[in-house]
Amino acid sequence: MRPNKVARAAGTGASVPVEQCQICGHVPLDTVLSLGYMPPVNQMVPIGQAPHQQPWFPTTLLHCRKCDLVQLGLAVDPAIIFPPEYPYTSGTTKLLRDNFADLQRESAAMLGLTKEDLVIDIGSNDGTLLSNFKEGGQRVLGIEPTDVGDIANRRGIPTLKRYFGVGVAREVRREYGAASVVTAANCFAHIEDVHAIVDGIVEMLKPDGVFISESHYLVPLLDTLQYDTIYHEHLRYYSLASLKHLLDMHSLEVFQARPIPSHGGSIRVYAARRGTHAVQNSVARMLAAEPRGDAMAKRLAAFRTEVILSKLRLLAMVRDLKEKGARIAGISAPSRASTLVNYVGLDEGLIDYVCEIPGSLKIGKLMPGTQIPVVEESRLYTDQPDCAIIFSWHIADELAPKLKAKGFRGKLITPLPVPRSL
Ligand SMILES: [Zn+2]
Repeated sequence: MRPNKVARAAGTGASVPVEQCQICGHVPLDTVLSLGYMPPVNQMVPIGQAPHQQPWFPTTLLHCRKCDLVQLGLAVDPAIIFPPEYPYTSGTTKLLRDNFADLQRESAAMLGLTKEDLVIDIGSNDGTLLSNFKEGGQRVLGIEPTDVGDIANRRGIPTLKRYFGVGVAREVRREYGAASVVTAANCFAHIEDVHAIVDGIVEMLKPDGVFISESHYLVPLLDTLQYDTIYHEHLRYYSLASLKHLLDMHSLEVFQARPIPSHGGSIRVYAARRGTHAVQNSVARMLAAEPRGDAMAKRLAAFRTEVILSKLRLLAMVRDLKEKGARIAGISAPSRASTLVNYVGLDEGLIDYVCEIPGSLKIGKLMPGTQIPVVEESRLYTDQPDCAIIFSWHIADELAPKLKAKGFRGKLITPLPVPRSL
């Protein structure tokens, strides 16, 4: 049963509590964990601006015992969490670029895509994903509500700057025809009325069209303690079971699923109208490996304890460093760093600055909820602080050798899953 009350914060300029499971409508939802109040992760004010009043929102994780969806307890108006100047661009991370190239290769081979096929990406960001399909010869269309869509248009990826919904889906179908493939990478967990999104996707698909989604995957999130990926953009934390439950409700059948490395552990899921594609063994295999019902509730309770202990361990490490007078910097300012610094309490008294690679739109701004400035990475090499905490720790293996090769001589620390020096 669909929820009869969707937590709809869009247009309110505020937030609305999630009172029913966003997939199945079940009540009541169990509380898993509270990270306290958090600032929106994209709320980054320019360095030097006088501190002024800013909104913070409770950040509580809930679990549905019926469909096993783990979800945020609050929906915040998208106008607040995705401001027009939204500074995230997916093209800046090599791991993501490689993943999207892989997505195109895998799906084009599996589905036999030709130049007649239309591929539509929802939440298409700077067009990085679609650029692969364009190079592969497919027709492409992006749908992206923020100004980042302009970057895509400039690089030749046609992009509608709209919030996606059934109305937009109908317009797109009329104007561009039905899609062979609709993709949603990392936005499928973001949009508040998920059933309306799936309705819109089904509306745009050809009879045998395929919906490919990529989302943070709950299993590695729990296993590697990625509580820092919990923030207001992410309304839902899918297992394959909960995702399948959702798609089943729309007569879409999951026929292929596999884990991918994006964002520290994501899941790529292929679905299509029931009976149109042969269901691969991967689906049953992944489902069997996931905890369900009471086992999931128990796993989530253990996660809560681990998160709290992790915060104390990281603080203990920072305390030891500060007692020795160490100067500490941060490496990269992904959205997840906002949750980490605010939950753990790493403020400007502890972290001198955070470095971003040249070209990042975050340079010249303050980390959300703090007065920690974001500066260009070159500062790290001229300043040589005693140590640097890698906030994008999920790609520490990619980053650490580069930082050392470029001349950083201090100690590198990863904050999660267990705080440690590299
Ligand atoms: Zn549910």
